[in-house]
Amino acid sequence: MSSASRLLLLLPTTTYRTEAFVEAAGKLGVELVCASERPSTFEALSPDSLLTLDFADLQASAATVADFARRLPIDAVVPVDDQTTVVAAVISQQLGLKANSLPSVSTARDKHAMRRCLAEARVPVPRFRLVNLADDPAVSARQVEYPCVLKPLSLSASRGVIRANDAREFVAAFHRIAAILEVEEGPLPDRSLLVEEFIPGAEVALEGLLIGGSLHVLALFDKPDPLDGPFFEETIYVTPSRLPEVVQARIAAITRDACSALGLTEGPIHAELRVNARGPFVLEVAARSIGGLCSRTLTFGTGLSLEELILCHALGRPLQSLERERRAAGVMMIPIPRAGRLAAVHGTDDAAAIEHVDEVTITMHPGQEVIPLPEGWQYLGFIFARANTPERVEGALRDAHGRLAFSIS
Ligand code: ADP
Repeated sequence: MSSASRLLLLLPTTTYRTEAFVEAAGKLGVELVCASERPSTFEALSPDSLLTLDFADLQASAATVADFARRLPIDAVVPVDDQTTVVAAVISQQLGLKANSLPSVSTARDKHAMRRCLAEARVPVPRFRLVNLADDPAVSARQVEYPCVLKPLSLSASRGVIRANDAREFVAAFHRIAAILEVEEGPLPDRSLLVEEFIPGAEVALEGLLIGGSLHVLALFDKPDPLDGPFFEETIYVTPSRLPEVVQARIAAITRDACSALGLTEGPIHAELRVNARGPFVLEVAARSIGGLCSRTLTFGTGLSLEELILCHALGRPLQSLERERRAAGVMMIPIPRAGRLAAVHGTDDAAAIEHVDEVTITMHPGQEVIPLPEGWQYLGFIFARANTPERVEGALRDAHGRLAFSIS
């Protein structure tokens, strides 16, 4: 008799995604091995389901997993969030599993490398240039066009992404990003940041699954709140998109081109694009699924979650349906109004009682320090809604948010 499949989940220290993947593995009857950088996260599990890896040490991680797999074979490796995509590629290669190549995920992890790769392949991206943090920002500020966007090369969740409308704002943004990187990564010589043309227009997020190099669009989300800066806080995502079909088809085609230029072939992708009269522009393609708790908006076929699809695909199991449910769905990532310490959240029951609202989840706890963008990366919580139309979903999310009051001291 063959034993259950065993799947290695690579969990970054800070992720919202653990529960959804663990639940999916349970539903699929998969034996899960959770790898993380800190040994204490899952003390309740047996030692055979736990691995502690230093994700930054790619070869050592691959060697540890290979040792483990000689005793307990691993059928699939699934990275969670951006931070573990690169180590997943190295581990998968070592185990001989089908997965994205190391160059493809490394390029997708580095915003400058990604821009260069896509521009060379003639995929529409903002004009960009690299600015060294050791250079005088006042000089760089004279060499760029405005408005522009400054961003670190490797952070995510819009951390450190700042719009500048003139040279003064450029210099301020430059110093602010340098300070974030100093805290995040320590003093490193020869570090750069990316400066890009600001692309106006509507923003969308495309959630897709790559199977043998072909991209299946799982959902296209509109982001109905304007994202004009200076910081780019995500709030509402609603699917299906209300953009014209031809525009949606163009977005899918350009995302497809971007994936093939990067060389991504297997597993989830999350792409962000902006659309204006010049057409769609790719802002990013990440080799991961949607972040936060936002995947709760998605249900496929006979009720499969996004994580179940991802795990089935990783295990090479047949996928019955990649069709999202008929109803419109959406999420609001509850923004952090100001910095401080969260004292209390009021009105959650009222908000949850709004018609079409499925759930209001506050993920930060009282007493926790709340840090808004551009330094922070967390959300106060999430509101989920489903209805017959995207308009109703958006309305319900806004109404529900209007019922919430946050006391931050
Ligand atoms: P992250 O990976 O941290 O989310 P992104 O590069 O995707 O960083 O930028 C985050 C957000 O900032 C985008 O979703 C978009 O709203 C905004 N943004 C980034 N670059 C540009 C740009 N060149 N033009 C307009 N908006 C941008």
